[in-house]
Amino acid sequence: MKQGKIFFISGPSGVGKGTVITALREKHKNWVFPPSCTTRESRPGEIEGETYFFISKEEFLKRVGRDEFLEHAEVHGGNLYGTLKKPLVTGVEQGKIVIREFDVQGFLQVREKLPKEYYTSIFLKPAEGVEVLGERIRHRAPITDEELVRRMESMKNELKLEHLYDYTVISRQGAIRQMVEDIEHIIVS
Ligand code: 5GP
Repeated sequence: MKQGKIFFISGPSGVGKGTVITALREKHKNWVFPPSCTTRESRPGEIEGETYFFISKEEFLKRVGRDEFLEHAEVHGGNLYGTLKKPLVTGVEQGKIVIREFDVQGFLQVREKLPKEYYTSIFLKPAEGVEVLGERIRHRAPITDEELVRRMESMKNELKLEHLYDYTVISRQGAIRQMVEDIEHIIVS
């Protein structure tokens, strides 16, 4: 059977990872987009096994013990989030194209765990610099000025890690279609 391939899409917060994933998911019904696991409560409209796998903290920790995660982290609010290895491996074994998004920190963890030949990585780079990303983050959810400054500092550091990725795709304001096409081009080539 033909082996599939894993593509990691990563980049700083606000760069458009979620938007790109939504567009790719709409267009490519045969590609696999494995959801994360989380211990947080599901919100209205979220679908088990699609938005996330919702599990208890106890179950999450058991899975950590069994080394079932490619990466995991405690995100704000004390909830645990993680990427299960199994759905990625299953997709590849079935010859599928598997797509996952990670923030830069998540990608750094994955790089340590997964041999290079298993995946291709794509970095989304903001064309307009971190100020525009800061504005987007501010519009998404309430945030203090202090926190915004801190987030922008860490974004500047994340931009320095572009060289760790196989490909860079430029994320330009109002040009989502171009960004999606550039990513598709990498994936199908
Ligand atoms: P939310 O609870 O709003 O869906 O997500 C909260 C945060 O958790 C987001 O910043 C999101 O990027 C992060 N997150 C979601 N899934 C994962 C995951 O599998 N691993 C890590 N490290 N963070 C995740």
